Amino acid sequence: MTQKQKIICVLYDDPIDGYPTSYARNTIPKLQQYPDGQSMPSPKSIDFNPGELLGSISGELGLRKFIENSGHELIVTSDKDSEDSVFDQHLEDASIVISQPFWPAYLTADRINKAPNLKLAITAGIGSDHVDLQSAIDNNLTVCEVTYCNSISVAEHAVMQILALVRNYIPQYKWVVSGGWNISDSVSRSYDIEGMDVGVVAAGRIGVAVLKRMKPFDVNLHYTDRHRLPEEIENQLNLTYHKDVNSLAENCDVISIHCPLHPETEHLFNDALISKMRRGSYIVNTARGKICDKDSITRALESGQLAGYAGDVWFPQPAPNDHTWRTAPNHALTPHTSGTSLSAQARYAAGVREILECWFEGRPIRDEYLIVQNGALAGTGAHSYSAGNTTDGSDQASKFKS
Ligand code: NAD
Repeated sequence: MTQKQKIICVLYDDPIDGYPTSYARNTIPKLQQYPDGQSMPSPKSIDFNPGELLGSISGELGLRKFIENSGHELIVTSDKDSEDSVFDQHLEDASIVISQPFWPAYLTADRINKAPNLKLAITAGIGSDHVDLQSAIDNNLTVCEVTYCNSISVAEHAVMQILALVRNYIPQYKWVVSGGWNISDSVSRSYDIEGMDVGVVAAGRIGVAVLKRMKPFDVNLHYTDRHRLPEEIENQLNLTYHKDVNSLAENCDVISIHCPLHPETEHLFNDALISKMRRGSYIVNTARGKICDKDSITRALESGQLAGYAGDVWFPQPAPNDHTWRTAPNHALTPHTSGTSLSAQARYAAGVREILECWFEGRPIRDEYLIVQNGALAGTGAHSYSAGNTTDGSDQASKFKS
């Protein structure tokens, strides 16, 4: 009999009118594999219906039965930022923390030091920057995520927001809802994207999916990445490669950001870089809020250097009520939702179950899911991150009041 372990799962709250009793659609498509051939999450079984709300506290990622039948304890909470939060109360004797980037349980060095039994941090999603990865390396934690589970979900959101910004969709929708028919107000900031230069920072799973989806719009496609793509893909998509982000910024009308947050990319989009962009450029950031300097983005929207900013990622999360992006002009931001569509939730809930099954049975976790293992970056972590910590300032999430 294995020793009983405590698992804390931090999830976002249920909908304000209660956990859904019915859904807009009866089913979600059953995908066979990811675009590069990677296999879908493959737990031995699941205890949920794909398409249900799994990422909120009542959904419990469909894990309770499995965890309790395995002889372990599951604590599920959304209380992660208040003083003496439920998350903090249980950390002391927890072995595993599961958290979603949409409502991140920031696993700072202080918290890791308070949790001597902690061995595994699972990201139910993609992007493990809410963990102090340097501290995870130093304390020999395993950090892993469900690689690819929501990459296409995010790519779809990014394309939606690129079009929403350039065509000025949100203000037009508002005119309809408020009873207006204000054509000139609606179109005085509205353009065609055809012929524009559109670039991505990072051409990993999401970045490439965005490039592929933008190709049919007859735009000129650009990218930068620390790993250059195979020539075949560059030719297929007619891509212009830029050796650094400065060159990309100077040559694009629209930039979509798709690199992880790590010390090399923290505050990458600051006053200096934004000033190199063409006047009236657009940025869509569905990667991580902290890749953009908050005040630089606000200033650029106010001055018109940026014609628009969108995305779904903020820092910290939830964004404090006085976060300046909430009220900045010409933005089309959403809360952090792109990677947590009901379709994505089914994949990452299954992926978390697969990881836990491996962990409990002493089997290796897939290499592509690994970010940190055995005191070093590993798997996708070694490919896409640099070591260090980007959680500073996350305590400000406590300033959010619902
Ligand atoms: P990926 O690992 O496939 O791709 C990341 C790419 O970033 C790699 O090609 C890597 O070489 C590149 N990169 C890393 N550092 C770089 C740098 N300094 N400059 C240029 N390129 C750099 O990951 P992915 O699935 O494409 O996801 C990317 C990121 O998107 C995640 O790490 C996460 O932060 C974010 N994400 C957001 C959501 C959401 O809901 N908004 C969901 C999933 C992922």
